[in-house]
Amino acid sequence: MSDSGAIDFNEIEGETELTPPETYAAQLIEWAAERNASDLFISDSERSVVVAVRRMGRVEIVRRLARQYGRYLQGHFRAISDAGAGDLVHPAEGRASVVLSDRRSIDFRLSVIPTLYGHDVSVRLFDAERGRVGIDALGMDDEEIATLKRLLGFPSGLILVSGPVASGKTCTLYAAIRHLNDGSRKIHTIEDPVEYPLAGVHQSQTNQRAKLDFAELLVAVLRHSPDVIMIGEIRDSQIAATAVRAGASGQLVLATVHADSTAQAINVMRQYDVNPTFLARTLVGVINQRLIRRLCEECREEIASGDELVGNDAVRARLRGETPRLYRPVGGPQCSDSGYSSLTCLPELMVITPEIEQGIIRGAGSAELEELAVRAGMLRMVDAAQVRILRGITTPTEVCRELDAPELSHLVARARAAESE
Ligand SMILES: [Zn+2]
Repeated sequence: MSDSGAIDFNEIEGETELTPPETYAAQLIEWAAERNASDLFISDSERSVVVAVRRMGRVEIVRRLARQYGRYLQGHFRAISDAGAGDLVHPAEGRASVVLSDRRSIDFRLSVIPTLYGHDVSVRLFDAERGRVGIDALGMDDEEIATLKRLLGFPSGLILVSGPVASGKTCTLYAAIRHLNDGSRKIHTIEDPVEYPLAGVHQSQTNQRAKLDFAELLVAVLRHSPDVIMIGEIRDSQIAATAVRAGASGQLVLATVHADSTAQAINVMRQYDVNPTFLARTLVGVINQRLIRRLCEECREEIASGDELVGNDAVRARLRGETPRLYRPVGGPQCSDSGYSSLTCLPELMVITPEIEQGIIRGAGSAELEELAVRAGMLRMVDAAQVRILRGITTPTEVCRELDAPELSHLVARARAAESE
């Protein structure tokens, strides 16, 4: 974390060290929640305690505190979240809920690890609004939403939601569950931990202290005659095998897996020693996604338009006659001068066709699986990104922070040229 990029914190700037730590902690949480921060970090550094937030995926330093005061603050967070305040040697975890001044309640999960200079306290804020997003509000276009709805319409099988860390997988899973939760299905979730309560859904969470893990819960849930099961994350062979078995025996199973593309997600499942034939017959679709920043519509500026911006026919077909336009971020009061307003989903949706099924069975590599999917109409993530750029939703620079995308070099060059004018 560098010193640069410190952001406004006027509301509680100045007399911090005279404010009781518990008051300051409440102000910090409220401040972070108001700005839609996903995490709050209070970390010992060499000479001070650094307070930072993660907003729209990026870490921003809020301020530096005197060491002793910063430690009181860390201690207060540990105490209210029951995270082993007496044990300063071992990593600890805890949870708490605070009520904001507008009576909104915000839950957070806290994790502490010992570091070279003291401790890192990481607070993950669970904004209930994020758990209330429907599939129409994830940031997918009409065709992507239609594909997702088609996948969710399967009565049984396995749907994988994949992506790197912090790519919005959980948000998409929750939106999918909300879509399915129409009263006609019995839905169970197994989470670590339960992030948002969903009315009418049976939610269970793992408990490390009691050694209650995913696999054990999954076996138990299967005895409760579910129609839909959501699994937080497939992270070992046992969970992978049980998920596939459940999908093959009449349930619709939704799970996340850590992978960089849809085809890679299939590879990850094969690495978990799942029988390829069994996997191929059970899998109905794979979603891969990133979160990218959405341009602030109040201040974005058009720098080019016209068909020569379009890189290939797949992008042209998806734009369906819309005029391609390239914008640059400017910055203004609405977006705290960042030029971007929020995070939006950048997806790749693979529907398993009979050809892909055969590919999985015979052990085709991820490049071949991807090619089969593209031939069946899948829009590759880099092309989905180009469509979003040419609709003025985001910028080439922003996409290239998340994706290695040489296909976008013509747009990156146009954006750079506009910057240097
Ligand atoms: Zn703006």
